[in-house]
Amino acid sequence: MSVLIIISGPSGVGKETLITEIRRKFPLFQIPVSYTTRPMREGDQNGVQYHFVTRGEFERMKSLDLFAESDEHFNNLYGTSKISLEKALESGDVLIELDVSGALQIKSKFPEAKLIFISPPSLDELEKRIRTRGKDSEESIRTRLARAEIEIEASKKFNHIIVNDNLEQAVAELTALVQNLLKGAKEVLK
Ligand code: 5GP
Repeated sequence: MSVLIIISGPSGVGKETLITEIRRKFPLFQIPVSYTTRPMREGDQNGVQYHFVTRGEFERMKSLDLFAESDEHFNNLYGTSKISLEKALESGDVLIELDVSGALQIKSKFPEAKLIFISPPSLDELEKRIRTRGKDSEESIRTRLARAEIEIEASKKFNHIIVNDNLEQAVAELTALVQNLLKGAKEVLK
């Protein structure tokens, strides 16, 4: 049986770096392509980064209950279709990155999904990292921190938490965890 791993964590926690590293170490993970209503950016290709659809099309899909999860970010809708997810799971193990709300929605539809939360050592440390990165306005920093607080609270419902204090250590912990989750699933089959 294929394993479904969902990784979430607040903005600024370093999850992109961790996930890139995990994808490099486990290149066979399938990635279902999500749907979005956001305008295409330079370099985007329909069906590669996302399936780009109109708000009307997205809402129609939602009303037909075609999404395993969906959410709104910065006035754009994003969603993982049930069919894409099921097809990816038929092809192999799946690892996706989602916000906390999306991860919990998936868990309610796919209870066997393994939810991993990447946590900062503390909110103060997260604030320091976001400020050091220097990409965000004061207002955006406050929004991100308020959201992070809610996400950290919701992470109690996750299966695993990895604290990203030291990047190298977090990569090692996440690698060992992913390896165990894959191995555990294969052993059940024996
Ligand atoms: P971007 O438009 O920059 O590619 O992504 C913006 C945000 O949308 C990111 O926070 C990303 O995690 C989130 N996102 C991307 N795809 C999905 C999805 O399928 N479902 C949900 N819930 N969020 C997504």
